[in-house]
Amino acid sequence: MRDRIEAFIAWANAEATKHDVPAETIPPGPHGVIGTARSRRSLAWHIARRPGGLVALAIQYGYLRTAFSTVTDGYGSRSRSGIHDLIDIETACAVADTVIGLKDHLADGGGVSGPAARRAIKAAAKAPRFAGTVITAATAKRLIANEDAMIYDNPQAFVLCHYKRAQALCHRDGVRDTPTLDRCVPGCGNIIRTDEHAAQLRERAEFLDKRAAFAARPIGDRLRANAIRLRDLADTHDRTHITVKDAT
Ligand code: SF4
Repeated sequence: MRDRIEAFIAWANAEATKHDVPAETIPPGPHGVIGTARSRRSLAWHIARRPGGLVALAIQYGYLRTAFSTVTDGYGSRSRSGIHDLIDIETACAVADTVIGLKDHLADGGGVSGPAARRAIKAAAKAPRFAGTVITAATAKRLIANEDAMIYDNPQAFVLCHYKRAQALCHRDGVRDTPTLDRCVPGCGNIIRTDEHAAQLRERAEFLDKRAAFAARPIGDRLRANAIRLRDLADTHDRTHITVKDAT
């Protein structure tokens, strides 16, 4: 693994030079070779921040909790707390980015809609709790346990999720401290939609209509129906959204 990571860095840097994009060069590690431990951290960072990353992270999170909980001793148990800590840290960092983004959106006069809109405005007002905080395993655990602070980005569902376990429709029967983002249920009381989501819903609807024009009738009808549903959601946002001013 270590050799392959080094070979990948050499290849990526050669490509950066070839395409004249020096900013994309991977700098030498200040602590020596990258190695597998640091590569794992980078991987978790990308899982948390790529579109839909938190979905992957949530799936992996559930999987890893199960997988590592079944290992009783040896390497597995030594690595267990390490990998869980790492995932908690990346989850908290991704949430911090989302909350700070929401705060900026509201500060620019942007609106939010959905059942959790008012509490999201309150949570965003407390975004500075993330600023300057070094997120360690302990602070990450504390933040994840604080339901008021945690707002998850869920770009696949075009929503933000201000997660309250008691209201979550994605896993009512289970007791979990993170939402199951890939099973987001329309109508959940934790949903927040921003102006950006409304714009994305309309873009997506347009895309579906274009595809429908070239699809066979039953598929085309389904795509058009989906496009209408997405436009309805965007219109609902426009009709019902509130701003910071409305909330105070
Ligand atoms: S169903 Fe509710 S709690 Fe679950 S991901 Fe969607 S908004 Fe969040």
